[in-house]
Amino acid sequence: MRPFEYLRVADAAAVSSAMVGVPGAKFLAGGSNLVDLMKEDVERPTRLVDIRQLPLRQIQRSRAGLSLGALATNTETANHPLVRENYPLLTQAIVAGASGQLRNMATNGGNLLQRTRCNYFYDTATPCNKREPGSGCGAREGLNKIHAVLGWSEACVATYPGDMANALYALDASVRVRATDGRERLIPVIDFHRLPGDTPQRDNNLEHGDLILAIELPVAAAEFAKHSHYLKVRDRSSYAFAMVSVAAALQLEGGTIRQARVVLGSVAHKPWRSAEAEAALVGQRPSEAIFAKAAQVALTGAKPLAHNGYKVELGQRSVVRALMRAAQLG
Ligand SMILES: Cc1cc2nc3c(=O)[nH]c(=O)nc-3n(C[C@H](O)[C@H](O)[C@H](O)COP(=O)(O)OP(=O)(O)OC[C@H]3O[C@@H](n4cnc5c(N)ncnc54)[C@H](O)[C@@H]3O)c2cc1C
Repeated sequence: MRPFEYLRVADAAAVSSAMVGVPGAKFLAGGSNLVDLMKEDVERPTRLVDIRQLPLRQIQRSRAGLSLGALATNTETANHPLVRENYPLLTQAIVAGASGQLRNMATNGGNLLQRTRCNYFYDTATPCNKREPGSGCGAREGLNKIHAVLGWSEACVATYPGDMANALYALDASVRVRATDGRERLIPVIDFHRLPGDTPQRDNNLEHGDLILAIELPVAAAEFAKHSHYLKVRDRSSYAFAMVSVAAALQLEGGTIRQARVVLGSVAHKPWRSAEAEAALVGQRPSEAIFAKAAQVALTGAKPLAHNGYKVELGQRSVVRALMRAAQLG
């Protein structure tokens, strides 16, 4: 490991002064992703700014609905009674991720910002435009079983591997961020992560020193509570990242679908919410045939690589199964 400075901050002003003018500074929350990447020599921060003493751990009702502190752990969030009651999709997604021990350390802010699990990103002996811009992409013509089928670019075929974010996309969450000049802004989560394009080194739309304060869940999304399901398909039944995952949610009125959410995970550089699949469901009566049509729409435009063609059919079948469970049809 390379030498780095370690600072503990306890208030917002200290956060800004620790970050401004130090491009190699990074926040440390649970450390479960960042420290791993430092051990692999993938992340090389010159300064770690430990934010764990900041008062960002509350989960509380807010004007928008429910505010999840950035430093609340994944376990605290998944188990919170207001989350379980109003946003059970989020509880299911979080619990599908990692292991109990990791979820006890992992924070909401850190989880959103976890980096890809692409093997070429982790292996510093191979080229990777995300780790070292301009070096090339080992995965494009290499072993790409776990990689993207949607939204990838010639520069990068990595996927976003997380679970929690898929549910947040379905629930129209927003991310509350504080810049180093003290200004706060609210980023709709759907605009938070980026597709790779020519700049795959940038996973999201944060600027250096931006601190995530909270994730905001809208009141209206609680209307999906009765009919939602998170499905994660993986090689092992626990402690594994998804090959494909689906966050599905429906609002039913008089036997027809009033609103629908379909988000696929681990198929693109960001959670893949399909507005077209959702539109295909609205106004229809729930049935396997309608769900199959929406599933086909959700994967339209998929361009599999040499080793991940399976993700297209698996994705479609997973969308159908998740919607069937959400509608309580199977
Ligand atoms: C073996 C293993 C298996 C896993 N399996 C899964 C899985 O199946 N599904 C899944 O979703 N996840 C999985 N994870 C990922 C895990 O959930 C993440 O490592 C964790 O959520 C990251 O949170 P953290 O608080 O530890 O972040 P850290 O490692 O502390 O930070 C991660 C990044 O976020 C930044 N950061 C943290 N907090 C803030 C903030 N408030 N504002 C701005 N920047 C911030 C840090 O600077 C860093 O860049 C797994 C991890 C491991 C090690």
